[in-house]
Amino acid sequence: MAILAGGVFGFYVGAESNSDSSIVQTPTPTPTPSVSASAVQTPLQLLCFEPVNNILRNSDVIAGCLESERSLGATALSAPQNPVNQLNQFLEVRFLAAQAAAEKEGVRLAITSGFRSFDRQATLFKAAVKKYGSEEAASHWVLPPASSHHPLGLAIDVNYPNDLVSTLWLEKNGFTYGLCRAYVNEWWHFEALAAPGQPCPPMIADASSLFVE
Ligand SMILES: [Zn+2]
Repeated sequence: MAILAGGVFGFYVGAESNSDSSIVQTPTPTPTPSVSASAVQTPLQLLCFEPVNNILRNSDVIAGCLESERSLGATALSAPQNPVNQLNQFLEVRFLAAQAAAEKEGVRLAITSGFRSFDRQATLFKAAVKKYGSEEAASHWVLPPASSHHPLGLAIDVNYPNDLVSTLWLEKNGFTYGLCRAYVNEWWHFEALAAPGQPCPPMIADASSLFVE
């Protein structure tokens, strides 16, 4: 009778127990034990930030964060299904955690523009079209509401327009918190393009490739 162990995980250990060396012929391949890799993997890591005392610690997605903490989320952040009226909460806490770490090194980071309403984004785009002469030319710097990630709550402008030097700290260290600089031509624009601790994707030249008329 086959011996089954592992209950619902289906660890099957009976197939490998035949050690009768008198029948050494051309053995059939030993079946690979059916312990799937996912059953033994450690859970996905999760960073938790306690905003009162600025404490960041490692947890995992199964244990979660404490009530006093806020989760940084374990993935890149993507577009919400419904309209929003504030900055994505994972993006916000990622920034707060990064801001606290920068502060300890004497570097000041501040969000100068985060969530923008559709109306506000439309006004900015209209002004940019006037300044740059066409919608296409404007889209390298400012996108219309339907294309921009600011009205989705998924983008922050940091230390704009004056403090490039401090913002380089975030460009270098932001990946730890899942914050990535998105565009070559905008040193101030960051998004949650990766899971915390994972490498950021390469920057794209500018926002115009997202432009939808
Ligand atoms: Zn921006």
